[in-house]
Amino acid sequence: MKELKVRVIGGGLAGCEAAWQLANRGIKVDLYEMRPQVMTPAHTTSNLAELVCSNSLRSDRLENAVGLLKEEMRRLNSLIIKAADLNRVPAGGALAVDRDSFSRYITDTVGNHPNIQVHYQEIKEIPDSGYTIVATGPLSSSGISGAIAQLMKEEYLYFYDAAAPIVTLESLDKGKVFKASRYGRGDDYLNCPMNKEEYARFWNELVNAEVVTLRDFENRVFEGCMPVEVMAKRGMDTLRFGPMKPVGLVDPRTGEEPYAVVQLRQDNHEATLYNLVGFQTNLKFGEQRRVFSLIPGLENADFIRYGVMHRNTFINSPRLLDSFYRMRENNRIYFAGQITGVEGYVESASSGLVAGYHLAGTLHGEQIAQFPSTTAIGALARYISNPTIGDFQPMNVNFGIMEPLGKRVRNKQQRNRSIAERALKDIENFIHPE
Ligand SMILES: Cc1cc2nc3c(=O)[nH]c(=O)nc-3n(C[C@H](O)[C@H](O)[C@H](O)COP(=O)(O)OP(=O)(O)OC[C@H]3O[C@@H](n4cnc5c(N)ncnc54)[C@H](O)[C@@H]3O)c2cc1C
Repeated sequence: MKELKVRVIGGGLAGCEAAWQLANRGIKVDLYEMRPQVMTPAHTTSNLAELVCSNSLRSDRLENAVGLLKEEMRRLNSLIIKAADLNRVPAGGALAVDRDSFSRYITDTVGNHPNIQVHYQEIKEIPDSGYTIVATGPLSSSGISGAIAQLMKEEYLYFYDAAAPIVTLESLDKGKVFKASRYGRGDDYLNCPMNKEEYARFWNELVNAEVVTLRDFENRVFEGCMPVEVMAKRGMDTLRFGPMKPVGLVDPRTGEEPYAVVQLRQDNHEATLYNLVGFQTNLKFGEQRRVFSLIPGLENADFIRYGVMHRNTFINSPRLLDSFYRMRENNRIYFAGQITGVEGYVESASSGLVAGYHLAGTLHGEQIAQFPSTTAIGALARYISNPTIGDFQPMNVNFGIMEPLGKRVRNKQQRNRSIAERALKDIENFIHPE
């Protein structure tokens, strides 16, 4: 019988998870990692699956979507979650790890797996034969970035993330927010009107809010793209002539143009999520919640993604990938990790899990079903590959992208728990079909 073999490029969270899923299903894997020969601007060790920043894999509670995602992955024998569970440090309701022992455990486990051969070398080309999973991360080397750009027309590869926060529709105060497009041309936007006092207070908090300190390599990328707080610092009225201009928008409650307006644009097909137009920002997450909650209508907003601006190589997955993270136009090539536009350590590992799981099944001649859209793993994979998404920006897992419950549950905690219970039942049925 011909030996089944897969090449995985990138030994980060996604690449190691994909290799592990393949190897445990009897597929031989060549895993390529360029460090320590070639380092990225953020990694500092030669360990596989190094955590480049925080040592937290975020909430471990099922009422939180990332907690649910982890539990689903646990049930699918995820290496990354197993390593995290074994190397846990106390962090309240979060799953935080000792970063060194976490990545050393993964380096040893992957390195000692009889089906995995680790090669410490940079790959600059995507071979046109055999099966490949590209998992080179947000800081992919320039060599492989060139090869990826060549593979998919250049316009589908992006090098930084300048995303505005996203809120859920149901958390908005509908008594304050009004629907309208500028100059009466439809009602595509939700508008949060401000009077002069509200604007002055908001501006003052915005210009004095705490921002994230960017590293040198991140600063350089953003010369041409201005965060909302930087624009605000240019003068008290700059935003009123920029993203917060009220021209052509009449508040039906007053019959007049407000003093300033924050516009919200629909972000997903189901119209459950909205982004704050022009609000790309470097404010710390807590500060975003505090300051943006001063916007009328957003007092109790549920932020499912905060604004970010950092170096991030990612592809336009909705145009390129299917829900197995496989290229639609070339079924030998999969992508996994942050490069697909999933955002976060756990999300990256989750996409590696799906890609490895699916490719292993395919190589064994099995028919692998899509992960159910009621599960966090499945919802994320479908979001990333949903061709109706226009302006694609990286996404964390969240309940807003999961299939809603068929019934209305008012209490948010209870609703999230019901979604999680349904997801775990469905993932069990997926793993062990009748
Ligand atoms: C500066 C920064 C901070 C972040 N902080 C957080 C955080 O605190 N929490 C969070 O949840 N997420 C964070 N992220 C986002 C993201 O979750 C992580 O980057 C995560 O590591 C992504 O997993 P990955 O497997 O896709 O990529 P990585 O873990 O980066 O793995 C990719 C691997 O591919 C290797 N590689 C690259 N090019 C090549 C090549 N040509 N040949 C061979 N190997 C190659 C790299 O050396 C690396 O080991 C951060 C991202 C960045 C850039």
